[in-house]
Amino acid sequence: MSVGWDTAVAGWEGFAPLAGDVTADACVVGLGASGLAAIEAFLDRGLSVVGVDAGRVAAGAAGRNGGFLLGGPSLALHRAVDRWGPAAAGLYRDTLEELDRLYALLGPSVIRRVGSIRLAGLPGDPADEAEAADREAETADCAAQAASMREHGIAVEEYDGPLGVGLYLPDDAAMNPAVRATRLATLVGRRAALHEHTPVTSVRSGSVATERGVVKARFVVVAVDGRLEKLVPALRTHVRTARLQMMSSAPIPSHRLPCPVYARWGYDYAQQLPDGRLYVGGGRDRFVDEEWTHDAEPTESVQRHIENVARRMAGGSVRAEHWWAASVGCTPDDRPLCARVEEDMVAIGGYNGTGNLVGPVAARSAVAWLLDGKSPPAWANALDPVAC
Ligand SMILES: Cc1cc2nc3c(=O)[nH]c(=O)nc-3n(C[C@H](O)[C@H](O)[C@H](O)COP(=O)(O)OP(=O)(O)OC[C@H]3O[C@@H](n4cnc5c(N)ncnc54)[C@H](O)[C@@H]3O)c2cc1C
Repeated sequence: MSVGWDTAVAGWEGFAPLAGDVTADACVVGLGASGLAAIEAFLDRGLSVVGVDAGRVAAGAAGRNGGFLLGGPSLALHRAVDRWGPAAAGLYRDTLEELDRLYALLGPSVIRRVGSIRLAGLPGDPADEAEAADREAETADCAAQAASMREHGIAVEEYDGPLGVGLYLPDDAAMNPAVRATRLATLVGRRAALHEHTPVTSVRSGSVATERGVVKARFVVVAVDGRLEKLVPALRTHVRTARLQMMSSAPIPSHRLPCPVYARWGYDYAQQLPDGRLYVGGGRDRFVDEEWTHDAEPTESVQRHIENVARRMAGGSVRAEHWWAASVGCTPDDRPLCARVEEDMVAIGGYNGTGNLVGPVAARSAVAWLLDGKSPPAWANALDPVAC
C-alpha cells in the first residue's frame, strides 16, 4: 500500500517521540486535523498542551482521504434537517467558518476554493435500467437539497455540464489532506509539545499513558475517528469502525474535473489535481459487510470498483499509481460523537466519512465543553455519562 498524497510530504521531518513523563494543562490524543484543531483551541485559551500520535501526523484518515472540504455534515442538508432539526444548518455554517479559518491560515496554495459538484449518477450513460432509475431518483434528491440550502441561505447552483446534471456548491474546496495536516502541525508545533510515534496505551481523566511515558494533564481530548472504540471501549455501542479505500492515477490528458466531484449519492468521488492526476474513492455501499473492519489495507474487490469509477470520471482509461485505505468512525444516527467519558475528558469522532471540517468543529466544541461547560449543539451526539 502506498498513499498518493504522501509524495507531497516526503520531506516531512516530524516531531520526536515522547521521552519520559511530562505535565501540561491539556493533552490531545491524535494528531489528525481534529486533534490539531483541539490543540489550537486550547492554545488560544492560554493553556499549555501536549499532543501525541501513534504514528506520523495525519497517519490515519486525516492524511489519506479524498481531500474534499465540503460544507455540512455527512448527510445532505435536507436530510440532516429532517433528522436533527435546525441544528443541522448550524453545523453547516460552522463548517464553512472552519473552512474560512483554514484558508486564512494556509492560503490558496493548499486550499483550492473551487467549489464542488454533486452529480446525479456517475458521468457517462447509465450501464443498465437500474442505474438509469437511480439517476432519476438522485436528480429529484438534488432538487430537494437545493431547496433546503436556499431556504437556509447557503449558496447552491444547478449543474448541467459535460459531466452530467446535479448541483454546484461554490463554497466548497479541495486540498491534499497530508499537506494540510503537516502544515497545521508545523504551525501549532511552535506553541505546543507534539510527539509522533508515541502510541497511547490507556487514557483517563488527568493521565494519558503512552509506550514512552505518561502525560499528566487536567484536560484530555481524544481525537481519534477510526478505531475510537478500541482506545475508549466505553464507546463501542456508539461508534463503529469502517474501512474506506482510494486510489490515485497517472495524469490523464484532459482537465475533466474542475473541482471535487461526488456522484451516486456521494458514495463515489474524485478530484483531479492541477498536474492531471485523479484521486478517486468509493464503493462503501457496495461492500458493506467486508468494510466493517479495523484492518486498513486496500482490497482487490473494492479497488476494482474504484478503478471503474475512475474510468467513468475520466471519460476513458486510467492507470492506477497508488492505492490505499484508512479507518473512519460511523455512528448509528449519523451524528458526530462528542462524549464526556470522564470528568475533564472528552472523546470525539464518528464523522461517517466526512470529517475534514466536521472533525475540527467537533474538536472546538469539545474544548468549549471542557473549559466553559458549554454542551455541544444538537448536531452532535453529546454523551455525558459524567452528568448522569
Ligand atoms: C478513503 C477516505 C476518504 C475520505 N474522504 C473524505 C473527504 O473527502 N472529505 C471529508 O471531509 N472526509 C473524508 N474522509 C473522512 C475523514 O478523513 C475523517 O473523518 C477525518 O480525517 C478524521 O480526522 P481525525 O483527525 O478526527 O481522525 P483520524 O484521522 O482518524 O486521526 C486520528 C489519529 O489518531 C492516531 N491514533 C489512533 N490511535 C491512537 C493511539 N492509541 N495512540 C495515539 N494515537 C492514536 C492515529 O494515528 C491518527 O493519526 C475520508 C476518509 C477516508 C478513509
